[in-house]
Amino acid sequence: LNKYRSMIVGVNTKVPLDNGTYTTAINFDNAATTPPFYSVEKEVRDFLPWYSSIHRGRGYKSMLSTEVYEAGRDIVKSFVKADNKKDILIYTKNTTDSINMLAFILSQEKDGRDVVLSTWMEHAANDLPWRDKFTVDYIEVDQFGRLSLEDYEEKLKKYKNRVKLVTVAGASNVTGYINDIHLMAAMAHRNGAKIHVDGAQLVPHVAVDMKDFESDEHIDYLSFSAHKMYAPYGCGVLIGPKTTFEDCIPCCVGGSIIKLITHERIWWEEPPQKNEAGSPNLIGIVAMVSAIKTLSKIGMSNAYNVEKNLHDYAFSKMKSIPDIKFYSSPDKQETIGVIPFNIEGVHHSLMSAILSYEAGIAVRNGYFCSHPYCENLLGLSAKDMEDLMNDSASLFPGIVRVSFGIYNDHAEIDKLVCFLKQIASNKKYYIDKYSNSRGRY
Ligand code: PMP
Repeated sequence: LNKYRSMIVGVNTKVPLDNGTYTTAINFDNAATTPPFYSVEKEVRDFLPWYSSIHRGRGYKSMLSTEVYEAGRDIVKSFVKADNKKDILIYTKNTTDSINMLAFILSQEKDGRDVVLSTWMEHAANDLPWRDKFTVDYIEVDQFGRLSLEDYEEKLKKYKNRVKLVTVAGASNVTGYINDIHLMAAMAHRNGAKIHVDGAQLVPHVAVDMKDFESDEHIDYLSFSAHKMYAPYGCGVLIGPKTTFEDCIPCCVGGSIIKLITHERIWWEEPPQKNEAGSPNLIGIVAMVSAIKTLSKIGMSNAYNVEKNLHDYAFSKMKSIPDIKFYSSPDKQETIGVIPFNIEGVHHSLMSAILSYEAGIAVRNGYFCSHPYCENLLGLSAKDMEDLMNDSASLFPGIVRVSFGIYNDHAEIDKLVCFLKQIASNKKYYIDKYSNSRGRY
């Protein structure tokens, strides 16, 4: 039995099945969000009696709350080894919020660098915020969905001094591939560009080291979300050099971020406070910091090894399922615990419904907010997508994804494989039974 299992809230929850009985829920949708640690639940409960307004409050509880809020920054920064002297940490709602903020702020710098290099692998959160503010080009992926460093080099050469930023997922939420962010950073820096890493799928699974600024390979900007690392929804971070945030207009404006306002002038607070308008999610921050303390105790290399073991075990077992098709090649690239697949003849949306109703197993299906990447993996062109959008009766092709957390175990994987084999061998029965189920794509 996985020793981390007992640290997680809700692992023994029973869910209803189609046949009227109940079974212990299996969660293989950890790339979407993870259940919280018990330590997070406890720390939030212990903190609630001390919860109060932060910053300007002079009551004892306010001062204590402010201290907790401010001290959290250093704990999170040291978890990813941010540069202590130069980097600041801004609390945000999530990765999406962080990237929107960064795009808004960088677009104010008038330095003649108007190009952002994104990639074909990105989640919409690391694509759309750049589109209306910069000329965006996308680094290509190869036939296995791996990022092409050759194309990256070519694009850096093509745009020369125009590249302001390279923005890349630390790990893909679809294939799980881990990108060589430090090599990519060195390549960006040699061209005078900076790098932003979307750490939403990296930071929860791999030891991340942003490195200090003297290193050519340092990561300039990093964003991630607490809800993918065993804390609940609602809190994320953006880390980067303080200088970036000093002379800009903040992305979101309002209270808490100004020293003084007249109708003629605004005197902003110093970053990071300048970038945290409105009342903050203090409980979310307590939860995030608590989750990070627990992950630090576990050790990120242990977390990585547990998940790698689960991934390799599942992959080797799933290979024997009839008509299975995988969309990643983990033997060709380092990955986190994500496996994208389909069983030929069973629609992806139907597959996740069947697994839920028949076995209490939660997986995700569709395009996972990484549409161009999935379209490419499925061999669909932009024209194919237009045609599908114009056909109201079309069942969109898509992918089924299982994604592991540190608490999953081999017995759960055995159950998944057993059900997948059963479905693959009795397709007609299951299709007829659930043919009215249509998931979101
Ligand atoms: N980037 C990646 C790679 C992700 O997987 C996700 C979440 N699925 C995001 C960004 C966005 O994260 P959030 O919804 O927490 O903002």
